[in-house]
Amino acid sequence: MIYKNYPMVSRVIFGRGSFNQLDEILASKRKGRNAPFIFYVDDVFKGNHWLTSRIPLSYKDKIIYIPTEEEPKTSQIDKLVEDIILEFSELPSGIIGIGGGIVMDIAKAVSLMLTNPGESKDYQGWDLIKNPAIYHVGVPTISGTGAEVSRTTILTGPDRKLGINSDYTPFDQVVLDPELTKGVPKDQWFYTGMDCFVHCVESLDGTFLNAFSQSYGEKAFELCKEIFLSDTLTEEESQDKLMMASWHGGMSIAYSQVGVAHAMSYGLSYLLGIKHGIGNCIVFDHLEEYYPEGVAMFKQMKEKHNIELPQGICAELHDDQIDIMVNVALSLEPLWENALGKNWKTKITREKLTTLYKKM
Ligand code: NAD
Ligand code: ZN
Repeated sequence: MIYKNYPMVSRVIFGRGSFNQLDEILASKRKGRNAPFIFYVDDVFKGNHWLTSRIPLSYKDKIIYIPTEEEPKTSQIDKLVEDIILEFSELPSGIIGIGGGIVMDIAKAVSLMLTNPGESKDYQGWDLIKNPAIYHVGVPTISGTGAEVSRTTILTGPDRKLGINSDYTPFDQVVLDPELTKGVPKDQWFYTGMDCFVHCVESLDGTFLNAFSQSYGEKAFELCKEIFLSDTLTEEESQDKLMMASWHGGMSIAYSQVGVAHAMSYGLSYLLGIKHGIGNCIVFDHLEEYYPEGVAMFKQMKEKHNIELPQGICAELHDDQIDIMVNVALSLEPLWENALGKNWKTKITREKLTTLYKKM
């Protein structure tokens, strides 16, 4: 047996208000006056003085606001990298992503592509990155994806939606300040929070499970139950705990894999542009056959928070469109192997996936 030797986030700061320390965290990483820090910030924070006034800017540092209607594309990353190369005489001192999974993934991908030649689509896959990234920092403002801790950055390319998975992808520094999540709208809080819940279920029910993944997965699962089903937490406690659940959920899948919901959700996202959190919810709602207990609990959570998921999104699709989604889902082989075991190909068919998609 060959075991994988995974990198982790090198430094993490946790606490309400810890974002105030960004200045001192970055100071020692500055490479010079001409090597700026580039801050990618979710454009929901444009004009939000409470947050932006604390972004420490000097010399040629720059804030770039990122719209988040759509998930990151490889072409978008290539453009952002080109913009930096054209505008500055030196490589940046660091790239900082302040936002949800979208902005954090953009920060990771840009930091990798500044030091690796060619186009980002050529690096979608596992361990194709050869050179270390620029110093990069993740500051989540919504909790659940685990993007702050993972070794991937998920991009939609011309041919597929697939991560750049590499040892250089994880952040060098993460700032976990739960207070930054206070403005998240309720529905989005639920969708992104459920991404974490689904990570736990898929990891804990998967065939790749081991004590490493289990210990993180169980903790995250327990926190999700408390956050989404109990009535005992204050809003602040709930924010603190969801931030840690996201971290643990991400750690859990680091040493295992996700499963059926993620595979199918990638199909929805690729064809219809449905975002990760809500896509997982739409799919997971129909997976009682694979995750009976997890889906029952998910339905309880959905009801408790009065969440109405879109229905019938695939009802009008043509067969060739469904085929595209089935192809995307089935191409994610490690996810199926984790969910169904080594001989997964005998357990899941195109017909089965088509039937499931048509229910959504
Ligand atoms: P997101 O980045 O799509 O953001 C969701 C919405 O929440 C946006 O409209 C954003 O503006 C808003 N928002 C964020 N913080 C806010 C705040 N504090 N106040 C008000 N609004 C706020 O959401 P997400 O669910 O965190 O990320 C999804 C993305 O993450 C997808 O692109 C997915 O592929 C990726 N992802 C990556 C990993 C990974 O390991 N790299 C894992 C899972 C998902
Ligand atoms: Zn996910």
